[in-house]
Amino acid sequence: MKIALITGITGQDGSYLAELLLEKGYMVHGVKRRASSFNTQRIDHIYQDQHETHVNFKLHYGDLTDSTNIIRIIQEVKPDEIYNLGAMSHVKVSFDSPEYVANVDGIGTLRILEAVRILGLEKKTRIYQASTSELYGGLAENKNEKGFYDEHSPFYPRSPYGVAKIYGFWITKNYREAYDMFACNGILFNHESPRRGETFVTRKITMATAAIALGEQDCLYLGNLDAQRDWGHAKDYVEAMWRILQQDVAEDYVIAMGETTYVRDFVKMSFAEVGIDIEFNGEGVNEKGYVASCSNPAYQIELGKQIIAVDPQYFRPTEVDLLIGDPTKSKTQLGWVPKYDLGGLVKEMMASDLQYVLKEKMLKEVRSSINY
Ligand code: NDP
Ligand code: GDP
Repeated sequence: MKIALITGITGQDGSYLAELLLEKGYMVHGVKRRASSFNTQRIDHIYQDQHETHVNFKLHYGDLTDSTNIIRIIQEVKPDEIYNLGAMSHVKVSFDSPEYVANVDGIGTLRILEAVRILGLEKKTRIYQASTSELYGGLAENKNEKGFYDEHSPFYPRSPYGVAKIYGFWITKNYREAYDMFACNGILFNHESPRRGETFVTRKITMATAAIALGEQDCLYLGNLDAQRDWGHAKDYVEAMWRILQQDVAEDYVIAMGETTYVRDFVKMSFAEVGIDIEFNGEGVNEKGYVASCSNPAYQIELGKQIIAVDPQYFRPTEVDLLIGDPTKSKTQLGWVPKYDLGGLVKEMMASDLQYVLKEKMLKEVRSSINY
C-alpha cells in the first residue's frame, strides 16, 4: 500500500486528491491547521473514525510555518509521495499579508524539501509542488510562438503570491538537481469546482447567480471584468498531479485547458444557467451589468434591473490580465485527458450553488417561522 501525505488537505484540491488516492488504494495522511471552528467541510465525507480496524485516512495537526512539526509528521508517516498543496492561495489577499504568504508558500516549500532530506528520505519520497500560472504574470511578450505559456516561457510574477510561489518553484527544481530528489512542479492554471473557495471569482459568481435568481441577493459586485483566465475543473487537475509523480523521470509540467475566457463571459455563462441574459453596457471596467431578459419563470427578476456592478476594491495593485496555458507536454507525456470543459464546469458549479442557496433559504424560513 502506497503512503501519501497531503498538505492543504482541507482545501479544494486536497479534498479531490484525497478522494482520488483513496480510490487508488493509498493510505492517505493529511496536514490540517488547528482552527477555532471546523475547517474540514470538504473532507468530512471521507473522514474515518480512527477506532475502526481498517483506517486508510488520517489527519495530523500541522502548519507549513512550523519546521519541527513538518519534520515530525514526515518522520512518523514516511510517505512515498508528498503533495504540497498547502498555501495562502488568494492573490488579492497576498497584497495584504505579503510576509505571511512568503513564509507559507515560499519557505513552507523549503521546509518540506529539507524535512525529507534531513530524514534521509530523498530516495524514497517523491514530492509534488503546487506551482501556478501566476508565475507567468500574463506578459504578452513571454508567450510561445503559438500564443500560450508553456514549460519554457519566462516568469514575471505580479503579486506577493506569485513571488512566493516562484521561490517554491525554484527551490523544488534546485533540490531535484542538487540532491537528485524526485521533486516536481505542476504549473497549474486556474481550476475551479463546487468546492472552490467562495472569494475566488468563479465561485463568487456562481454563488451570487444562485442567490440573485432565488431572490436572496440584489447585486453582485466584482472587480476587473476584462481579465481572462484558462479555467479547468479541479477534479481533472488532481489527476494530473498524481500522474506527474508516477513518471520515470522527475520533470515540471503545465496543466491547462488551452482556452481562455473573460471574467465577463463567465458571468454570462453562469446567469444563462438560470435563464437570465446579462448585457453589459460598454467595454470599460466601470461598466454596469443589466438583466436584458429573464426567460425562466421560476426566477422573478425585474427586466432591466442592475444586478452586476464593478467595485474598485476588488482591483489588484498589479493585475495578471491574461492567462492561457499549453497542455501539449502533459497530454503527450502524462497521457492526461481532462473530462470537463468550461461549459460542464459552470453547469456543475451552478447546480451545486442553486441547491446550496435553496437549502440556506429554506433553513432561514424555517428558523424564522419557529416561535421560540
Ligand atoms: P485552497 O485555498 O482551497 O486550499 C489551501 C489549503 O492550504 C487549505 O487546506 C489551507 O488550510 C491550507 N493552508 C493555508 N495556510 C496553511 C499553512 N500555513 N499551513 C498549512 N496549510 C495551510 O487552495 P486550492 O486547493 O485551490 O489550491 C491548492 C494549491 O494549488 C495551493 O498551493 C494553490 O496556491 C495552488 N494553485 C491553485 C490553483 C487554483 O486555481 N486552485 C492554481 C494554481 C496553483 P485551511 O483550510 O485551514 O485554510
Ligand atoms: P487568480 O487568477 O488566482 O487571481 O484567481 P481569482 O479567481 O481570484 O481571480 C481571477 C481574475 O478575476 C483576476 O484577474 C481578478 O482580478 C478577476 N476578478 C474580477 N472580479 C473579481 C472579484 O470580485 N474577486 C476575485 N477574486 N477576482 C475578481
